[in-house]
Amino acid sequence: MKHVYLDNNATTPLRPEVVEAMQPFLTEDFGNASSIHYFGQRAKAAIDDARGQVARLLGADLPEIVFVSGGTEADNLAIRGIAASTASRGRHIITSQIEHSAVLGTCKDLEGQEFEITRLPVDRDGLVDPCQVRNAIRPDTVLISIMHANNEIGTIQPIEEIGRIAQEAGVWFHSDGVQALGKIPVDVRALGVHLYSVSSHKIHGPKGAGALYVRRATPLKPMLTGGGHERNRRAGTENVPAIVGFGVAARIAREHLAGEMVRLGDLRDRMEEVLSARIPDISVNARGAPRLPNTSSIMVDHAEGEGLLISLDLKGIAVSTGSACSSGSMEPSHVLTAIGKTPDEGFGSLRISLGSMTTAEDVDTLAQELPGIVERLRALSPHYKN
Ligand code: PLP
Repeated sequence: MKHVYLDNNATTPLRPEVVEAMQPFLTEDFGNASSIHYFGQRAKAAIDDARGQVARLLGADLPEIVFVSGGTEADNLAIRGIAASTASRGRHIITSQIEHSAVLGTCKDLEGQEFEITRLPVDRDGLVDPCQVRNAIRPDTVLISIMHANNEIGTIQPIEEIGRIAQEAGVWFHSDGVQALGKIPVDVRALGVHLYSVSSHKIHGPKGAGALYVRRATPLKPMLTGGGHERNRRAGTENVPAIVGFGVAARIAREHLAGEMVRLGDLRDRMEEVLSARIPDISVNARGAPRLPNTSSIMVDHAEGEGLLISLDLKGIAVSTGSACSSGSMEPSHVLTAIGKTPDEGFGSLRISLGSMTTAEDVDTLAQELPGIVERLRALSPHYKN
């Protein structure tokens, strides 16, 4: 069976150039980047090169890039690092209701350590209102953490505007850019962020590498203590092969960004048009809002997302849903709930996310298979009237 992968917001396939660049660092170039001999120098040079590529993709300076294990660690380091180093000044953090669990879970944990968290609501498209950010700032606010682009519905937040508000108020500003990187232009200076999280495996690089952009003079207590790696920001011997792969993926993402934005945006729009024409009673979340070009979140009336996912999987098509099984019962995602979907609506959601390897043929395959699957599932629903 031919497999069609349309779940690129979960993870992406490695590019062949990435695998090729990593190969020597899994074999003969095995040095520890902290060693001063030949082997160490080879590893250090490779990390420096990758740091340059990631910095370029973000519009940052080399010393501002801290390599970590992925997006989750970057989010943890940003939030916990600021919280720990500024707690004497204040213990209030502002975030949104639709952040990734790496941010929400970290904030929840800090709540148990006597931090106060304000979780801002979003509108029906998933947008945070910058005025609400401004109004939520208090004298004891130390950090604002608002994601750049949402992983489920793709909404792009007004980060520049929030950056200006943070700047005026003298509050540190973190943004989770894991889903934005490689899909839309990112310039950390223009965005006005002090901290920005990214992850290699979302841009056709390997798992096990990510980075936190830390603007110069940002106070950040390290989470891991040990050696002086990463300018004392993240102790531990660097994962050289993964960092090398991340660097190559970052370079290719930068080179292809403009073209891929147009290509994927066109493919996605065409897919949404065809699906809307062939399947009655579906709608697209955040369709009119600023949105990632590769992401489509579709609500299918009277068809369960899990059933759709499994039926598509049996046809070789991989997508994801906006609901998850938690403690034995189905829960609609916190993102769909935050944009005002009822649990029933939330159950019928599908996330289709395209990537650099996605072809027009892949999208056509989905457009051929999904209408029949929806029809079959709806036929089982006692409530669906056609
Ligand atoms: N933040 C966002 C918005 C994400 O989509 C993800 C992954 O899905 C993460 C953080 C976590 O990144 P990682 O898988 O690299 O830990």
